[in-house]
Amino acid sequence: MAGGPDARSLEGGLTVLAGPTAVGKGTVSTYIRDNYPEVWLSVSATTRPPRPGEQDGVHYFFKSSDEFDQLIAEGEFLEWAVVHGHNRYGTLRSTVAKAVAEGKSVLLEIDLQGARQVKAAVPGARFVFLAPPTWDELVRRLVGRGTETVEEQQRRLETAKLELAAEPEFDHTIINDDVRRAADELVSLMGLTPHPR
Ligand code: 5GP
Repeated sequence: MAGGPDARSLEGGLTVLAGPTAVGKGTVSTYIRDNYPEVWLSVSATTRPPRPGEQDGVHYFFKSSDEFDQLIAEGEFLEWAVVHGHNRYGTLRSTVAKAVAEGKSVLLEIDLQGARQVKAAVPGARFVFLAPPTWDELVRRLVGRGTETVEEQQRRLETAKLELAAEPEFDHTIINDDVRRAADELVSLMGLTPHPR
């Protein structure tokens, strides 16, 4: 479920960051959360259980499957998707709309399916693709983090190939060669000033 009658009013203040699995979207958005309070980072709803250290309302709004169904039924999502074949993740329309209406620079860090839904609903938003320096580096990051089984790694690498092919759908590409540099480039694209170090 994407869009809605008021979706176009989001144009202008909205930036979407997407990219292949394991490219480091989460690391870049965490860096932005920690270093750029002037960016309003959308907090998604998810049916995935919290990982150690994750707080409800900060990293995600953690929902049961029934609660997520209800949010869908109520039209609360600007976009939502099943990610990696397991859990559902979605962007809450009302919180994003409020932040954009308040003039904030809003960033959504979402998967490719979600980015496409936002593009259909809010074509004037800014779409940024985070790319790995090389394919080998993407493989190294996915295998190196050691959080997936070998079968799951293979499945995600297949997905990553398809995801990399989506780059031309985006307005800008940022190479994630260094988290801080990539985050600074993203902030610049959003019209904000990167902090001097
Ligand atoms: P993780 O479970 O590691 O926090 O996130 C897994 C994936 O879900 C990431 O690729 C992230 O971009 C994606 N994701 C997080 N929030 C959303 C959302 O609201 N919508 C969509 N479509 N994907 C999301």
